[in-house]
Amino acid sequence: MAENGFLKQAPGFATRAIHVGQEPERWNSYCVVPPLVTSTTFKQEAPAKHRGFEYGRSGNPTRNVLEECLASLEEAKYSLCFSSGLGATTCISSLLSRGDHIICGDDVYGGTNRLFRNVVARMGVELSFIDLQDATNLTQVIKPNTKMVWIETPTNPLLKIFDIAAISKILKEYPDTIFVVDNTFLTPYFQRPLELGADIVMYSLTKYMNGHSDVIMGAAMTSRDDLHERLRFLQNAMGIVPAPFDCYQVNRSLKTLAIRMQQHQKSSLLIAKWLESQSMVDKVIHPGLSSHPQHDLAKKQCYGHSGMLAFFIKGGAAQSSEFLKSLKVFTLAESLGGYESLAELPSVMTHASVPEKQRMELGITDSLVRLSVGLEDVQDLIEDLLQALDAASKVSETKKN
Ligand SMILES: *Cc1c(COP(=O)(O)O)cnc(C)c1O
Repeated sequence: MAENGFLKQAPGFATRAIHVGQEPERWNSYCVVPPLVTSTTFKQEAPAKHRGFEYGRSGNPTRNVLEECLASLEEAKYSLCFSSGLGATTCISSLLSRGDHIICGDDVYGGTNRLFRNVVARMGVELSFIDLQDATNLTQVIKPNTKMVWIETPTNPLLKIFDIAAISKILKEYPDTIFVVDNTFLTPYFQRPLELGADIVMYSLTKYMNGHSDVIMGAAMTSRDDLHERLRFLQNAMGIVPAPFDCYQVNRSLKTLAIRMQQHQKSSLLIAKWLESQSMVDKVIHPGLSSHPQHDLAKKQCYGHSGMLAFFIKGGAAQSSEFLKSLKVFTLAESLGGYESLAELPSVMTHASVPEKQRMELGITDSLVRLSVGLEDVQDLIEDLLQALDAASKVSETKKN
């Protein structure tokens, strides 16, 4: 059995990450490491007769290498890369037209919420946010003009789990509705939504996939020919493409994805269990804990869990602020999924753009702390958390930050 009872990963993932799309034979030099091609234009042998590349926006050899590798990790037919995760979201939401309706999970990345509410809705697309912990909630909101269902699972930052297969089963009755899963928190190493019935998987590659906090990039994978053709057209027509150097970096990072995710999983679970025993901690949220309300669903749907966890600190803004300021190994910063451990307060940082009423309904309070557990020695991380919790415990209950 896999760690902590999750689905067992079939062999082959790490091998594909290292070799697919990286064949030396495809280059004249037989180079083992795919080259960084920066040329924006490509010589044609005769007008409109070329060797697959014309202009860098519509195709680049370094980007192709990455896209092929990503498709194989997702076990998808196709993959496309974008200049950011939100660039991928912009492209995918451009599949919709005025008068269409999109149903979005209620607890998504703050920037996704902002894009849908302030940009996509302004283009005349109707928008509903719903809690899909019970997949049948969908049947109450879905309408004839619902053309897209968009979810994140586990959600951000509360790590609720939505049942991808159950949602997809309901959507079988609505063949015109495109089902998109933002899989940024788990990567294809721990969850593959296409095999559970999703039409498109979307990533912020900025996070675990690149994993070194030095590239902003996004991706969309699908096995549907029609969707791929439309997305590929939009990627070029809208010009939301990544730089070749960034593609080179992400391609390189994928070589260690499996081994990084294994360590993120080990360390985050250890820390989650340790936090559960601390008197300054009210509640720990981690899908690998048996206390997680959807622990069984997580085990049925995922191959494991990443370094993401959240917890409620005892007290309020004063305590969480003192805790975060006291951390020395964890860095107080937005983002996640890098080799370095990060901590943040979603209510005023990553999720500040979510309207307050929606934040309160979700439970994103000033005592909710989100951690992205990195690859440092776990004992150093625990000692750091311990001293910061201790500092927070000395703040008087009433003190405001
Ligand atoms: C960061 C993030 C995004 C947006 O990606 P960018 O690369 O920052 O544009 C989307 N979804 C999730 C879950 C994220 O964490």
